[in-house]
Amino acid sequence: MNKSQLLQQDRDHLLHPFTDFHDLGKQGTRVITNADGAYITDIDGQRMLDGMSGLWCCNLGYSRNEIADAIYEQLRTLPFYNSFFQCTTIPSIELADALSEVTPEGMNNVFFTGSGSEANDTNLRIIRRYWDLKGQPEKRIVISRQNAYHGSTIGGASLGGMSGMHKQFQSLDYITHIQQPYWFGEGGDMSPEEFGVHAARCLDEKIQELGPDNVAAFIAEPIQGAGGVIIPPETYWPEVKKVLAQYDILLVMDEVIFGFGRTGEWFGSDYYGLKPDLMTFAKAVTNGYFPLGGTMVSDRVAEVIKSKGGEFTHGYTYSAHPAACMAGLATLNILRNEKIIDNVRDTTGPYLAKRWAELADHPIVGETRSLGMVGALELVKDKSSRARFDDDCTAGGVCRDMSIKHGLVMRATGDTMIIAPPLIITTEQVDELVEKAHRALDDTAKALA
Ligand code: PMP
Repeated sequence: MNKSQLLQQDRDHLLHPFTDFHDLGKQGTRVITNADGAYITDIDGQRMLDGMSGLWCCNLGYSRNEIADAIYEQLRTLPFYNSFFQCTTIPSIELADALSEVTPEGMNNVFFTGSGSEANDTNLRIIRRYWDLKGQPEKRIVISRQNAYHGSTIGGASLGGMSGMHKQFQSLDYITHIQQPYWFGEGGDMSPEEFGVHAARCLDEKIQELGPDNVAAFIAEPIQGAGGVIIPPETYWPEVKKVLAQYDILLVMDEVIFGFGRTGEWFGSDYYGLKPDLMTFAKAVTNGYFPLGGTMVSDRVAEVIKSKGGEFTHGYTYSAHPAACMAGLATLNILRNEKIIDNVRDTTGPYLAKRWAELADHPIVGETRSLGMVGALELVKDKSSRARFDDDCTAGGVCRDMSIKHGLVMRATGDTMIIAPPLIITTEQVDELVEKAHRALDDTAKALA
């Protein structure tokens, strides 16, 4: 089938996620046909450095045949069996054990799902079950943050704080949102340090307003990913920790993006020294090779939900899919054996930080930020006032298209450009990324002049 036939069929039959169907019909789509290492190639043969690791998931890039082989072998041995009705499979036991080893201390239980969204729904179910079994059924409210992303199921989307999403569905009424720690966008005249404390105090105020006896949990990503790689000011997490220490409220860390090495530590919770009660993961657990998600359950929570009787009436057909678990085991083995995460922490992360920061000198860049193998930059018309090019923040889309033209996949969240390259990227490829980003910025500045 030729390219124009494929594009026609795509238009006729495929509804793409998070897409304006009407616009896409006019613009058409890019057909990605193959990938290797840190690069993807489209149907026209254009090879692009994948600055987004697929969708934040292919942390080891695209050439790890060990993972593909592990999946294939499993599919030939036992392609499927469920973990309901007193059954289990060897890959699911082994992955549960391996995850207990690499996740923060005290997280020794896992509930598997097929995705991050399903895992956050699972969290809502576990939170409720936990407080019910503890005899505190009035603890129902879950606090999240504006502009957070926690998935697209009704539970995940209710936890998320993106206003555009909330306009299109009816949110669960026991979830509420507080201010995000986005200094560049919302910090005003405060210093980043002051603003970090301010945003953390919003949690305390909300808990007091609702009454601590009614609050079940606080959920957050260590760094907001899809919201624009919002790295909180250094004062934020220590202050949140202080707030949470005062109350009996569960901490749910959504590690779907930052889990498995993105910060240069295994989990964002490790980086910030947090001790979550529940921890959502997905994406990079299988290097994106097979759908798998789950939630790590701390001993504190597990002791309650395991020790008291009664069925936990929750689960998915594909919870602990054996081939997915084999993909997870192969991925963890590579991360451990090749010391990939140490390399991000010690070498490539600091190198990216140095090179990415150079882009702050560009006339249309208001701020750059990065940590480990993730980064963002803010497009502005005026550096000192942080004014955007227009109210609808369309500069980001222009810059993304320019970037693709130059052979680099960057993502735009409004006028925030974000990158999350594979953890295996070399320092030479970091140079390539920064040079291409620079060219994209030059072209964007010209186009918007
Ligand atoms: N939580 C976070 C922080 C995410 O970034 C995502 C996906 N981008 C999800 C949850 C949902 O995961 P999935 O798309 O696998 O359902």
